Amino acid sequence: MHRKHLAGAATALLLAAMPFGRAHADATDAQLDRIVDEGLRHSQAMANASELVDGIGPRLTNSENFDRATQWALGKFKGYGLADAHLEPYDFGLGWNLDSWDARVIQPRAIVMRSIPVAWSPATGGTITAPVILAPISKKEQFDKWRGKLAGKIVMISLPGEASQTDKPQFRRYEDKDFAAMDQYKLPADETMPYAEGNKGDLFPLELSRFLKQEGAVAMVRKAYRDNGLVYGEGYLYQPGNALALPFVELASEDYRRLARLEVAGKPPVIALSVAARFNDRDLTADNVIADIPGSDPKGGYVMAGAHFDSWIAADGATDDGVPSVLMIEAARIIQSLGVKPKRTIRFALWSGEEEAFTGSTAYIEQHLAHRPTAPNLSPLDYFAQWTGAFPIEKKPGYDELKAYFNLDNGAGKIRGIYAENNGGAAELLGKWLKPFASMGAGNVVMGRTGGTDHEYMQSIGLPAFEFIQDPLDYSSRVHHSNLDTLDHAPPDDVRQAATVLAAMLWQAANSDEVLPRPPLPTAPSKSDPFKVEDPDKE
Ligand SMILES: [Zn+2]
Repeated sequence: MHRKHLAGAATALLLAAMPFGRAHADATDAQLDRIVDEGLRHSQAMANASELVDGIGPRLTNSENFDRATQWALGKFKGYGLADAHLEPYDFGLGWNLDSWDARVIQPRAIVMRSIPVAWSPATGGTITAPVILAPISKKEQFDKWRGKLAGKIVMISLPGEASQTDKPQFRRYEDKDFAAMDQYKLPADETMPYAEGNKGDLFPLELSRFLKQEGAVAMVRKAYRDNGLVYGEGYLYQPGNALALPFVELASEDYRRLARLEVAGKPPVIALSVAARFNDRDLTADNVIADIPGSDPKGGYVMAGAHFDSWIAADGATDDGVPSVLMIEAARIIQSLGVKPKRTIRFALWSGEEEAFTGSTAYIEQHLAHRPTAPNLSPLDYFAQWTGAFPIEKKPGYDELKAYFNLDNGAGKIRGIYAENNGGAAELLGKWLKPFASMGAGNVVMGRTGGTDHEYMQSIGLPAFEFIQDPLDYSSRVHHSNLDTLDHAPPDDVRQAATVLAAMLWQAANSDEVLPRPPLPTAPSKSDPFKVEDPDKE
């Protein structure tokens, strides 16, 4: 038995964890051992991750950097011998390329501020220098108060707020009590309520920028939503005809509050902003990257794993979701190293548009899996809102072909298990596939649901789609979407563990005699409480 060759703790732990000396289903334990050896002792994940996030950098959907990254990924998939590596375009919206930016105080003294333009902001066309005015505006009803006061100003539209003092550790790993809390059956929300709220908030900057421009303001700035020098730059106005009317820059809270204090004290600072950015309104499509390891059984269907390839712009999009995207490529490489064909095809997907309401994975569903009848010509965010509540769901031929989907989008922490999404039958099989990796910390299967990423829509149409549980590290506390999102926040040991577990899960799912049970095709739900009367003020 070759197991003796695998020196070190991992092997010992794996041997100890593997009950009955055999992995579950058709994947042999020898194959799993080779996956472990390749993934832990011959990893190429960090080298590839550096090429992507250090070399190519942030990948806003439909930006030139995103396109550079897709060519890079196609090259990697082809290089590892995958079949049919290709791009799948769909209608998205404007492209936007950020070349350089700067924000600094000129008076009362020179200060370089921590800043980021809001995605899809117009360029400044050189440097705009002007005094600021603190004018917190969060809804249309507040416009009148500022009429006639904004001409020639840079408008600070956020409330300064109070500085936060956090005593919580920024970095952590899950403990058993955390899994217990996740292991709760989550009653489905009342899906009869349309998904309306989000849209208004994301579109308000458009109305505001038009009002400020009309009042003669020259630019607008907002405060970052966290302290400690963090900036983000999330913006959603990528629809042609709906572009911002004024340059829009986000400042770190500490820089923003300094301006606010000086302004309130009656000495409005003079600041200089420059944003060099270019729109692309010629090609309004965005791409998903798809590649396959073909299976031997033409009737076996396929299993798929995915991560989103797009990112925000404040740093390199390393942990969200660059490294997990590289883990797709690494898992493909590891499986290819076995030199054995799986029974079912294994498909890898690198989605675009996840940050803009899952446009890429939704497009894949509509192209391959199922159709939901939304009204025509909706704005992207209204489409997103309607799509999740549109019935009946019409299955496409590919619907029954997809036997399992695994998503990675919780940062770069090691895999600790998986959310079974209220699917008890699936929990058992997922548990069997993860068991050999329990000693690597990956054996937790919890009944709870998780959302906010690309598996959610596959779940919403009744497909067996799951998101892995990953150690939080400092992902949600400070790295998620921020100017800290660099490869420094991806511990190499976590990365190679996650690649190994992902490859093993895919290999077992692709070769298993059993398939993951799935709920019935969802139909239009009835009200969870038929006697509930909706509050008209909330509409
Ligand atoms: Zn993400």
